[in-house]
Amino acid sequence: MSKFAELGLADSLLNAVADEGYETPSPIQARAIPPVLAGEDVMAAAQTGTGKTAAFTLPLLQRLQEVGRTGHVRALVITPTRELAAQVEDSVRRYGKHTKLRSCVVFGGVKINPQIERLKRGVEILVATPGRLLDLHSQGAVKLDRLELLVLDEADRMLDMGFIHDIRRIIKLLPTERQTLMFSATFSKDIRELARNFMQEPVEVSVTPPNSTADTVKQWVFPVDKKRKPALLSHLVRDKQWHQVLVFTRTKHGANKLTRTLEKDGIVAAAIHGNKSQGARTRALEGFKRGKVQALVATDIAARGLDIDQLPQVVNFDLPNVAEDYVHRIGRTGRAGAAGHAYSLVSADEADQLFGIERLIKKPLPREEVEGFEPDHVLPEGRPQRRQGRPQQARRGGDSGNSNGNRPPGRRRRRSRRNGSTNTAANRESSGNR
Ligand code: AMP
Repeated sequence: MSKFAELGLADSLLNAVADEGYETPSPIQARAIPPVLAGEDVMAAAQTGTGKTAAFTLPLLQRLQEVGRTGHVRALVITPTRELAAQVEDSVRRYGKHTKLRSCVVFGGVKINPQIERLKRGVEILVATPGRLLDLHSQGAVKLDRLELLVLDEADRMLDMGFIHDIRRIIKLLPTERQTLMFSATFSKDIRELARNFMQEPVEVSVTPPNSTADTVKQWVFPVDKKRKPALLSHLVRDKQWHQVLVFTRTKHGANKLTRTLEKDGIVAAAIHGNKSQGARTRALEGFKRGKVQALVATDIAARGLDIDQLPQVVNFDLPNVAEDYVHRIGRTGRAGAAGHAYSLVSADEADQLFGIERLIKKPLPREEVEGFEPDHVLPEGRPQRRQGRPQQARRGGDSGNSNGNRPPGRRRRRSRRNGSTNTAANRESSGNR
Protein backbone atom coordinates (compact mmCIF):
# COMPACT_ATOMS: atom_id res chain seq x y z
CA MET A 1 0.00 0.00 0.00
CA SER A 2 1.36 3.39 -0.88
CA LYS A 3 2.00 5.79 1.93
CA PHE A 4 -0.73 8.05 0.56
CA ALA A 5 -3.18 5.13 0.75
CA GLU A 6 -2.37 4.78 4.44
CA LEU A 7 -3.82 8.24 4.95
CA GLY A 8 -7.21 6.94 3.85
CA LEU A 9 -7.36 8.50 0.39
CA ALA A 10 -9.59 6.96 -2.28
CA ASP A 11 -8.26 5.38 -5.49
CA SER A 12 -9.28 8.30 -7.71
CA LEU A 13 -7.02 10.56 -5.64
CA LEU A 14 -4.24 8.01 -5.23
CA ASN A 15 -4.11 7.71 -9.01
CA ALA A 16 -3.89 11.48 -9.41
CA VAL A 17 -1.11 11.63 -6.83
CA ALA A 18 0.75 8.85 -8.64
CA ASP A 19 0.31 10.75 -11.93
CA GLU A 20 2.02 13.72 -10.27
CA GLY A 21 4.91 11.47 -9.32
CA TYR A 22 4.50 11.95 -5.58
CA GLU A 23 5.58 8.94 -3.59
CA THR A 24 5.50 10.03 -0.01
CA PRO A 25 3.17 12.50 1.66
CA SER A 26 4.95 15.61 2.87
CA PRO A 27 4.73 16.13 6.65
CA ILE A 28 1.87 18.60 6.38
CA GLN A 29 -0.01 16.17 4.15
CA ALA A 30 0.57 13.29 6.54
CA ARG A 31 -0.74 15.34 9.45
CA ALA A 32 -3.56 17.31 7.87
CA ILE A 33 -5.20 14.81 5.53
CA PRO A 34 -6.57 12.36 8.16
CA PRO A 35 -8.37 14.96 10.32
CA VAL A 36 -9.77 16.72 7.25
CA LEU A 37 -11.09 13.39 5.98
CA ALA A 38 -12.63 12.84 9.38
CA GLY A 39 -14.57 16.09 9.01
CA GLU A 40 -12.66 18.07 11.60
CA ASP A 41 -11.91 21.77 11.38
CA VAL A 42 -8.17 22.03 10.88
CA MET A 43 -5.81 24.89 11.53
CA ALA A 44 -2.49 24.19 9.85
CA ALA A 45 0.77 26.06 10.06
CA ALA A 46 2.56 25.54 6.77
CA GLN A 47 4.38 27.65 4.26
CA THR A 48 4.26 27.54 0.51
CA GLY A 49 6.53 24.78 -0.67
CA THR A 50 5.51 22.31 2.01
CA GLY A 51 2.86 20.65 -0.16
CA LYS A 52 0.07 22.44 1.67
CA THR A 53 -2.17 22.77 -1.40
CA ALA A 54 -2.47 19.01 -1.75
CA ALA A 55 -2.87 18.77 2.03
CA PHE A 56 -6.26 20.46 1.79
CA THR A 57 -7.20 19.74 -1.83
CA LEU A 58 -6.93 15.94 -1.69
CA PRO A 59 -9.20 15.42 1.33
CA LEU A 60 -11.53 18.18 0.11
CA LEU A 61 -11.99 16.35 -3.19
CA GLN A 62 -12.54 13.09 -1.40
CA ARG A 63 -15.24 14.51 0.84
CA LEU A 64 -17.05 16.11 -2.07
CA GLN A 65 -16.83 13.14 -4.41
CA GLU A 66 -18.84 10.99 -2.01
CA VAL A 67 -21.90 12.91 -3.23
CA GLY A 68 -20.46 13.94 -6.60
CA ARG A 69 -21.72 16.64 -8.95
CA THR A 70 -24.52 18.79 -7.68
CA GLY A 71 -24.04 21.99 -9.65
CA HIS A 72 -23.79 24.25 -6.62
CA VAL A 73 -20.77 25.56 -4.75
CA ARG A 74 -19.94 23.04 -2.04
CA ALA A 75 -16.35 24.04 -1.33
CA LEU A 76 -14.81 27.48 -1.36
CA VAL A 77 -11.10 28.22 -1.21
CA ILE A 78 -10.23 31.84 -0.49
CA THR A 79 -6.72 33.04 -1.27
CA PRO A 80 -5.10 36.47 -0.91
CA THR A 81 -3.80 36.82 -4.48
CA ARG A 82 -4.86 36.07 -8.03
CA GLU A 83 -1.71 34.10 -8.68
CA LEU A 84 -2.29 31.84 -5.72
CA ALA A 85 -5.98 31.44 -6.65
CA ALA A 86 -5.00 30.35 -10.16
CA GLN A 87 -2.37 27.96 -8.84
CA VAL A 88 -4.71 26.41 -6.31
CA GLU A 89 -7.42 25.89 -8.90
CA ASP A 90 -4.90 24.30 -11.20
CA SER A 91 -4.04 21.87 -8.40
CA VAL A 92 -7.73 21.18 -7.79
CA ARG A 93 -8.07 20.23 -11.45
CA ARG A 94 -5.00 18.05 -11.47
CA TYR A 95 -5.72 16.22 -8.24
CA GLY A 96 -9.42 15.98 -9.13
CA LYS A 97 -9.02 14.77 -12.69
CA HIS A 98 -10.33 11.28 -11.87
CA THR A 99 -13.39 12.67 -10.09
CA LYS A 100 -16.42 14.23 -11.74
CA LEU A 101 -16.22 17.38 -9.68
CA ARG A 102 -15.95 20.74 -11.41
CA SER A 103 -14.04 23.78 -10.29
CA CYS A 104 -13.50 27.35 -11.35
CA VAL A 105 -11.42 30.31 -10.24
CA VAL A 106 -12.57 33.91 -9.87
CA PHE A 107 -10.44 36.95 -9.12
CA GLY A 108 -10.47 40.67 -9.79
CA GLY A 109 -8.66 42.64 -12.47
CA VAL A 110 -10.26 40.71 -15.31
CA LYS A 111 -13.75 40.83 -16.87
CA ILE A 112 -16.48 39.60 -14.60
CA ASN A 113 -18.91 38.36 -17.27
CA PRO A 114 -17.01 35.25 -18.32
CA GLN A 115 -16.82 34.32 -14.64
CA ILE A 116 -20.59 34.80 -14.30
CA GLU A 117 -21.14 32.59 -17.34
CA ARG A 118 -18.83 29.92 -15.97
CA LEU A 119 -20.59 29.92 -12.60
CA LYS A 120 -23.97 29.53 -14.35
CA ARG A 121 -22.83 26.22 -15.80
CA GLY A 122 -22.36 24.88 -12.29
CA VAL A 123 -19.28 24.23 -10.14
CA GLU A 124 -18.74 22.32 -6.94
CA ILE A 125 -15.40 23.89 -6.02
CA LEU A 126 -14.81 27.61 -6.24
CA VAL A 127 -11.42 29.23 -5.73
CA ALA A 128 -11.63 32.98 -5.22
CA THR A 129 -10.01 36.14 -4.02
CA PRO A 130 -12.22 37.95 -1.49
CA GLY A 131 -13.19 41.15 -3.36
CA ARG A 132 -14.32 39.53 -6.58
CA LEU A 133 -16.22 36.86 -4.71
CA LEU A 134 -18.22 39.54 -2.88
CA ASP A 135 -18.88 41.34 -6.18
CA LEU A 136 -20.15 38.17 -7.77
CA HIS A 137 -22.31 37.45 -4.78
CA SER A 138 -23.82 40.92 -4.73
CA GLN A 139 -24.73 40.47 -8.41
CA GLY A 140 -26.46 37.20 -7.62
CA ALA A 141 -23.98 35.22 -9.70
CA VAL A 142 -22.94 32.89 -6.93
CA LYS A 143 -24.78 31.30 -4.02
CA LEU A 144 -22.91 30.10 -0.98
CA ASP A 145 -25.79 28.95 1.18
CA ARG A 146 -25.12 25.25 0.58
CA LEU A 147 -21.44 25.38 1.22
CA GLU A 148 -19.96 22.41 3.05
CA LEU A 149 -16.29 23.26 3.23
CA LEU A 150 -14.39 26.52 3.51
CA VAL A 151 -10.61 26.83 3.12
CA LEU A 152 -8.78 30.01 4.06
CA ASP A 153 -5.40 29.67 2.35
CA GLU A 154 -2.49 31.84 3.47
CA ALA A 155 -4.71 33.38 6.10
CA ASP A 156 -1.85 35.40 7.59
CA ARG A 157 -1.25 37.10 4.25
CA MET A 158 -4.94 37.85 3.91
CA LEU A 159 -4.87 39.63 7.24
CA ASP A 160 -1.68 41.49 6.29
CA MET A 161 -3.34 42.61 3.09
CA GLY A 162 -6.34 44.00 4.98
CA PHE A 163 -8.91 41.42 3.89
CA ILE A 164 -10.29 40.79 7.34
CA HIS A 165 -13.53 42.73 6.72
CA ASP A 166 -14.12 40.95 3.42
CA ILE A 167 -13.53 37.61 5.09
CA ARG A 168 -16.00 38.42 7.83
CA ARG A 169 -18.57 39.42 5.21
CA ILE A 170 -17.99 36.22 3.25
CA ILE A 171 -18.29 34.02 6.32
CA LYS A 172 -21.64 35.61 7.13
CA LEU A 173 -22.91 34.30 3.78
CA LEU A 174 -22.02 30.70 4.65
CA PRO A 175 -23.95 28.07 6.57
CA THR A 176 -22.71 27.80 10.15
CA GLU A 177 -22.76 24.02 9.80
CA ARG A 178 -19.66 23.55 7.69
CA GLN A 179 -16.09 22.35 7.85
CA THR A 180 -13.45 25.07 7.98
CA LEU A 181 -9.76 24.71 7.22
CA MET A 182 -7.24 27.43 7.72
CA PHE A 183 -3.68 27.40 6.42
CA SER A 184 -1.25 30.01 7.57
CA ALA A 185 2.52 30.38 7.71
CA THR A 186 2.26 31.36 11.37
CA PHE A 187 -0.33 31.27 14.14
CA SER A 188 -0.27 34.89 15.22
CA LYS A 189 -2.65 36.35 17.79
CA ASP A 190 -4.90 37.62 14.99
CA ILE A 191 -4.96 34.25 13.28
CA ARG A 192 -5.93 32.55 16.52
CA GLU A 193 -8.71 35.07 16.98
CA LEU A 194 -9.97 34.35 13.47
CA ALA A 195 -9.96 30.65 14.33
CA ARG A 196 -11.79 31.25 17.59
CA ASN A 197 -14.54 33.15 15.81
CA PHE A 198 -14.99 31.02 12.73
CA MET A 199 -13.89 27.50 13.52
CA GLN A 200 -15.23 24.69 15.71
CA GLU A 201 -12.60 23.24 18.01
CA PRO A 202 -10.00 23.10 15.28
CA VAL A 203 -7.33 20.42 15.27
CA GLU A 204 -3.97 22.16 15.09
CA VAL A 205 -1.27 20.76 12.88
CA SER A 206 2.11 22.27 12.37
CA VAL A 207 5.15 21.24 10.43
CA THR A 208 7.19 24.24 11.30
CA PRO A 209 9.68 22.87 13.78
CA PRO A 210 10.39 24.93 16.84
CA ASN A 211 12.39 27.72 15.31
CA SER A 212 15.58 26.77 16.98
CA THR A 213 18.22 24.46 15.72
CA ALA A 214 19.35 21.41 17.59
CA ASP A 215 22.29 22.17 19.83
CA THR A 216 23.94 19.01 18.65
CA VAL A 217 24.26 20.45 15.14
CA LYS A 218 27.33 22.56 14.61
CA GLN A 219 26.68 25.13 11.95
CA TRP A 220 28.96 27.17 9.78
CA VAL A 221 28.66 29.61 6.96
CA PHE A 222 31.41 29.50 4.37
CA PRO A 223 31.31 32.79 2.46
CA VAL A 224 32.26 32.11 -1.15
CA ASP A 225 31.69 33.57 -4.59
CA LYS A 226 28.78 31.96 -6.37
CA LYS A 227 30.80 30.65 -9.26
CA ARG A 228 33.25 28.94 -6.95
CA LYS A 229 30.70 27.01 -4.93
CA PRO A 230 31.04 23.74 -6.89
CA ALA A 231 34.82 23.79 -6.53
CA LEU A 232 34.55 24.54 -2.82
CA LEU A 233 32.14 21.66 -2.35
CA SER A 234 34.46 19.22 -4.14
CA HIS A 235 37.33 20.53 -2.03
CA LEU A 236 35.38 19.99 1.20
CA VAL A 237 34.29 16.48 0.24
CA ARG A 238 37.92 15.54 -0.43
CA ASP A 239 39.57 17.54 2.32
CA LYS A 240 37.19 16.48 5.06
CA GLN A 241 36.87 12.97 3.63
CA TRP A 242 33.12 12.99 3.58
CA HIS A 243 31.74 9.63 2.64
CA GLN A 244 28.11 10.52 2.99
CA VAL A 245 26.91 14.07 2.51
CA LEU A 246 23.43 15.34 1.73
CA VAL A 247 23.62 18.51 -0.35
CA PHE A 248 20.66 20.83 -0.78
CA THR A 249 20.06 22.95 -3.85
CA ARG A 250 17.17 25.31 -4.46
CA THR A 251 16.27 24.05 -7.91
CA LYS A 252 16.06 20.78 -9.80
CA HIS A 253 18.22 22.22 -12.53
CA GLY A 254 20.79 23.26 -9.94
CA ALA A 255 20.77 19.75 -8.49
CA ASN A 256 21.44 18.18 -11.89
CA LYS A 257 24.18 20.62 -12.77
CA LEU A 258 25.95 20.21 -9.45
CA THR A 259 25.76 16.43 -9.67
CA ARG A 260 27.48 16.52 -13.06
CA THR A 261 30.22 18.80 -11.73
CA LEU A 262 30.86 16.61 -8.70
CA GLU A 263 31.04 13.53 -10.92
CA LYS A 264 33.59 15.29 -13.12
CA ASP A 265 35.61 15.90 -9.97
CA GLY A 266 35.58 12.18 -9.25
CA ILE A 267 32.95 12.27 -6.52
CA VAL A 268 30.17 9.71 -6.81
CA ALA A 269 27.03 11.84 -6.76
CA ALA A 270 23.34 11.44 -7.53
CA ALA A 271 20.50 13.92 -7.79
CA ILE A 272 17.08 13.39 -6.30
CA HIS A 273 14.17 15.68 -7.17
CA GLY A 274 10.66 15.82 -8.49
CA ASN A 275 11.57 15.36 -12.15
CA LYS A 276 13.40 12.10 -11.56
CA SER A 277 11.58 8.84 -12.15
CA GLN A 278 10.72 6.74 -9.18
CA GLY A 279 13.32 4.19 -10.23
CA ALA A 280 16.06 6.78 -10.42
CA ARG A 281 15.16 8.19 -7.03
CA THR A 282 15.04 4.79 -5.36
CA ARG A 283 18.39 3.84 -6.88
CA ALA A 284 20.00 7.10 -5.76
CA LEU A 285 18.69 6.72 -2.24
CA GLU A 286 19.68 3.08 -1.93
CA GLY A 287 23.16 3.85 -3.25
CA PHE A 288 23.49 6.66 -0.75
CA LYS A 289 22.34 4.57 2.18
CA ARG A 290 24.71 1.77 1.26
CA GLY A 291 27.61 4.18 0.93
CA LYS A 292 28.07 3.81 -2.82
CA VAL A 293 26.90 7.34 -3.51
CA GLN A 294 29.01 9.87 -1.63
CA ALA A 295 26.98 12.99 -2.29
CA LEU A 296 23.21 12.99 -2.61
CA VAL A 297 22.06 16.27 -4.12
CA ALA A 298 18.44 17.06 -3.29
CA THR A 299 15.84 19.78 -3.53
CA ASP A 300 13.83 20.58 -0.40
CA ILE A 301 10.62 18.89 -1.37
CA ALA A 302 12.38 15.76 -2.64
CA ALA A 303 14.34 15.52 0.60
CA ARG A 304 11.22 15.80 2.75
CA GLY A 305 10.05 12.28 2.20
CA LEU A 306 13.50 10.74 2.46
CA ASP A 307 14.08 8.37 5.26
CA ILE A 308 17.65 9.39 5.90
CA ASP A 309 18.37 10.81 9.27
CA GLN A 310 21.45 11.02 11.41
CA LEU A 311 23.76 11.96 8.63
CA PRO A 312 27.16 13.16 9.72
CA GLN A 313 26.80 16.33 7.66
CA VAL A 314 24.54 18.30 5.39
CA VAL A 315 25.57 21.07 3.05
CA ASN A 316 23.43 23.94 1.88
CA PHE A 317 24.80 24.58 -1.55
CA ASP A 318 22.17 27.31 -1.90
CA LEU A 319 20.33 28.84 1.00
CA PRO A 320 16.60 28.18 0.93
CA ASN A 321 14.27 31.08 0.22
CA VAL A 322 12.07 30.08 3.13
CA ALA A 323 14.04 30.34 6.36
CA GLU A 324 12.15 27.47 8.02
CA ASP A 325 13.50 25.14 5.35
CA TYR A 326 16.96 25.74 6.75
CA VAL A 327 15.82 24.28 10.05
CA HIS A 328 14.29 21.29 8.24
CA ARG A 329 17.44 20.77 6.24
CA ILE A 330 19.87 20.81 9.09
CA GLY A 331 17.50 18.64 11.12
CA ARG A 332 18.77 15.83 8.91
CA THR A 333 21.96 15.74 10.87
CA GLY A 334 22.70 15.50 14.55
CA ARG A 335 19.59 13.58 15.52
CA ALA A 336 19.18 11.73 18.78
CA GLY A 337 22.18 13.31 20.38
CA ALA A 338 24.60 12.35 17.62
CA ALA A 339 26.92 15.18 16.61
CA GLY A 340 26.07 16.67 13.25
CA HIS A 341 27.54 19.34 11.05
CA ALA A 342 25.75 21.73 8.75
CA TYR A 343 27.71 23.85 6.32
CA SER A 344 26.20 26.61 4.20
CA LEU A 345 28.04 27.90 1.16
CA VAL A 346 26.81 31.47 1.00
CA SER A 347 27.45 34.00 -1.75
CA ALA A 348 26.97 37.74 -1.41
CA ASP A 349 23.61 37.71 -3.21
CA GLU A 350 22.21 35.38 -0.55
CA ALA A 351 22.71 37.82 2.33
CA ASP A 352 18.97 38.42 2.74
CA GLN A 353 18.24 34.70 3.03
CA LEU A 354 21.06 34.37 5.55
CA PHE A 355 19.73 37.24 7.65
CA GLY A 356 16.26 35.68 7.51
CA ILE A 357 17.65 32.42 8.86
CA GLU A 358 19.62 34.16 11.59
CA ARG A 359 16.50 36.07 12.62
CA LEU A 360 14.50 32.85 12.74
CA ILE A 361 17.00 30.87 14.80
CA LYS A 362 17.78 33.97 16.83
CA LYS A 363 21.53 33.74 16.54
CA PRO A 364 24.18 34.70 14.03
CA LEU A 365 25.80 31.80 12.25
CA PRO A 366 29.55 31.62 12.58
CA ARG A 367 31.37 32.44 9.39
CA GLU A 368 34.61 30.98 8.20
CA GLU A 369 36.45 31.55 5.00
CA VAL A 370 38.07 28.51 3.50
CA GLU A 371 41.61 29.12 2.44
CA GLY A 372 41.87 29.44 -1.30
CA PHE A 373 38.15 30.22 -1.60
CA GLU A 374 37.99 33.67 -0.04
CA PRO A 375 35.27 35.57 -1.89
CA ASP A 376 35.79 38.65 -4.05
CA HIS A 377 32.20 39.67 -3.38
CA VAL A 378 31.99 40.27 0.35
CA LEU A 379 29.05 38.72 2.10
CA PRO A 380 27.39 41.69 3.83
CA GLU A 381 27.12 41.58 7.58
CA GLY A 382 24.82 42.93 10.21
CA ARG A 383 21.12 43.35 10.41
CA PRO A 384 19.42 43.56 7.06
CA GLN A 385 18.48 47.06 5.99
CA ARG A 386 14.99 47.43 4.64
CA ARG A 387 15.69 47.84 1.00
CA GLN A 388 14.33 46.93 -2.37
CA GLY A 389 16.01 44.66 -4.81
CA ARG A 390 19.15 42.63 -4.52
CA PRO A 391 21.73 43.21 -1.86
CA GLN A 392 24.70 45.20 -2.92
CA GLN A 393 27.70 43.17 -3.78
CA ALA A 394 30.62 44.96 -2.31
CA ARG A 395 33.87 44.27 -4.08
CA ARG A 396 36.57 43.37 -1.68
CA GLY A 397 39.17 46.11 -1.54
CA GLY A 398 42.87 45.41 -1.28
CA ASP A 399 43.06 46.42 2.36
CA SER A 400 39.90 44.80 3.59
CA GLY A 401 39.98 41.98 6.05
CA ASN A 402 38.09 38.76 5.71
CA SER A 403 35.04 37.97 7.70
CA ASN A 404 35.34 36.64 11.19
CA GLY A 405 33.67 33.59 12.61
CA ASN A 406 31.64 33.25 15.79
CA ARG A 407 30.82 36.84 16.51
CA PRO A 408 27.97 39.26 16.34
CA PRO A 409 27.84 40.91 12.95
CA GLY A 410 28.82 44.53 12.44
CA ARG A 411 31.21 45.85 15.02
CA ARG A 412 33.99 43.37 14.83
CA ARG A 413 33.86 43.39 11.10
CA ARG A 414 34.95 47.02 11.12
CA ARG A 415 37.63 46.29 13.62
CA SER A 416 39.05 43.55 11.46
CA ARG A 417 38.98 45.93 8.51
CA ARG A 418 40.99 48.49 10.39
CA ASN A 419 43.74 46.17 11.35
CA GLY A 420 43.53 44.55 7.96
CA SER A 421 43.96 41.08 9.38
CA THR A 422 43.05 38.03 7.46
CA ASN A 423 41.07 35.52 9.34
CA THR A 424 40.74 32.37 7.34
CA ALA A 425 39.58 29.10 8.80
CA ALA A 426 43.13 27.82 8.59
CA ASN A 427 44.54 30.89 10.37
CA ARG A 428 41.99 30.72 13.11
CA GLU A 429 42.41 27.04 13.55
CA SER A 430 46.11 27.50 14.08
CA SER A 431 45.57 30.44 16.43
CA GLY A 432 43.00 28.47 18.40
CA ASN A 433 40.33 31.09 17.78
CA ARG A 434 37.41 28.78 17.14
P1 AMP B 1 2.71 23.81 -2.23
O1 AMP B 1 3.33 23.95 -0.86
O2 AMP B 1 1.33 23.30 -2.15
O3 AMP B 1 2.84 25.06 -3.03
O4 AMP B 1 3.53 22.66 -3.01
C1 AMP B 1 4.87 22.81 -3.37
C2 AMP B 1 5.30 21.86 -4.46
O5 AMP B 1 5.44 20.55 -3.96
C3 AMP B 1 4.36 21.75 -5.63
O6 AMP B 1 5.13 21.87 -6.80
C4 AMP B 1 3.78 20.37 -5.54
O7 AMP B 1 3.51 19.85 -6.81
C5 AMP B 1 4.87 19.60 -4.83
N1 AMP B 1 4.37 18.51 -3.98
C6 AMP B 1 3.28 18.54 -3.20
N2 AMP B 1 3.17 17.38 -2.52
C7 AMP B 1 4.21 16.61 -2.86
C8 AMP B 1 4.66 15.30 -2.47
N3 AMP B 1 3.99 14.58 -1.58
N4 AMP B 1 5.78 14.82 -3.03
C9 AMP B 1 6.47 15.56 -3.93
N5 AMP B 1 6.11 16.79 -4.33
C10 AMP B 1 5.00 17.33 -3.80
